Amino acid sequence: MSIPDISREKSAALYERAKTYFPGGVNSPVRAFKSVYGTPLFIEKGDGSHIWDADGNEFVDFCCSWGPLILGHNNASVRNKVMEVMQNGMSFGAPTALENELAELILSNNRFIEKIRFVSSGTEAVMSAIRLARGYTKRDKILKFEGCYHGHTDALLVKAGSGLVTFGESSSAGVPKAFADETIVVSLNDMEALRAAFDEFKGQIAAVIIEPIPANNGLLLQSKDYLQYLREICTENGTLLIFDEVISGFRVGFEGAAGYYGIQPDILTYGKIIGGGLPVGAYGASAEVMDHISPVGSVYQAGTLSGNPVAMAAGIAQLSELLKPGFYEELQAKTAGFVKAIQDFVAERGYNLKIFTVGSIFWFAFTDQEAISTAEQIDPLSMLKFKEMHRELINRGVYLGPSGYEVGFISAAHTLADLETTKTAIFDSLDIVFS
Ligand code: PLP
Repeated sequence: MSIPDISREKSAALYERAKTYFPGGVNSPVRAFKSVYGTPLFIEKGDGSHIWDADGNEFVDFCCSWGPLILGHNNASVRNKVMEVMQNGMSFGAPTALENELAELILSNNRFIEKIRFVSSGTEAVMSAIRLARGYTKRDKILKFEGCYHGHTDALLVKAGSGLVTFGESSSAGVPKAFADETIVVSLNDMEALRAAFDEFKGQIAAVIIEPIPANNGLLLQSKDYLQYLREICTENGTLLIFDEVISGFRVGFEGAAGYYGIQPDILTYGKIIGGGLPVGAYGASAEVMDHISPVGSVYQAGTLSGNPVAMAAGIAQLSELLKPGFYEELQAKTAGFVKAIQDFVAERGYNLKIFTVGSIFWFAFTDQEAISTAEQIDPLSMLKFKEMHRELINRGVYLGPSGYEVGFISAAHTLADLETTKTAIFDSLDIVFS
């Protein structure tokens, strides 16, 4: 049975005011709730798996700041470490031991990179990785996949045109056509298209960039065979393979998707979890590749706040928790149980809904297809069902990211009790969506 909408008076008033300050009232577009009902909820506080909005409504949160909060909100270890480090100042623009500490934590527990460079966002990590690949290979073209998001760097705000292998068309105003012309776009999970692209642009492709676990346009899980093929075709062609692990890094295991699939990319990019909720990104590779970066190499890349001590502190505290024995096993078992209960419910009711999952990531796909591995397989009309579900869940105290193309995250702070109440809310919401 439908229940009344929650009160959003204070959030709505804040949003009205925000619209006078910021384009669309927000500092990042998806926050504007354009794809779901109502105005954006303004969040006042988070603790563990719960958040509270300006009207005092409480939610179990599955957005988790879009992924960084794998330990949940306001985690005591992260908070304490940040507060301790802050006593000594916020930024020096000179090296600190904290950068070494975070690098050591990562490099000694990740077989896939030998050197790393910290930056301040995922976008910056990707942008730098692309420049590195171009500088290293002395080639200009890059290849990306339809349905993968890599931040808002010009070269990657590019979508497929029509045809098997296409020059990209920019997906944002302000991206020069000449930039988009350097980006080739192909469908995911299509070996033939990949081969055709390498044939057509022989000796010209500096890098292939992929989210090895594509999680920005639904959850488009790829087969290991396909990723392996990608590895091989890059090696054959002297092209660098970039795994963009801004979401999957430290999420599906400490070694991310590279570890999950056992595939060695040439460059890896990180963001989100690596900064414990503060703005950190990073890229890493073999020492040989990384030594092409300035000041030793000729590829320039810099940052005023790169390796910021407060942000490093948050990363150190968060990643240290992830390295504790059984961390990922427990998180994944919790997620698997949650997802299976919903899958069973859906199967029993015969609803056209699939819940795809990997690690502690899940995605609701309103479809009857058994698998969805390309962006083209997603029916835009199915998002109307997500919109209905989102409203019902908000009214029942469950917060999912405000778009059906976004995945949900489970954190270590989600208790079994949280997941039980969420399941009930989901079952009731689905009964309404499909009624
Ligand atoms: N790459 C991937 C795979 C992402 O998911 C994102 C952000 O969601 C980015 C890059 C960009 O990261 P940021 O938003 O920190 O700039």
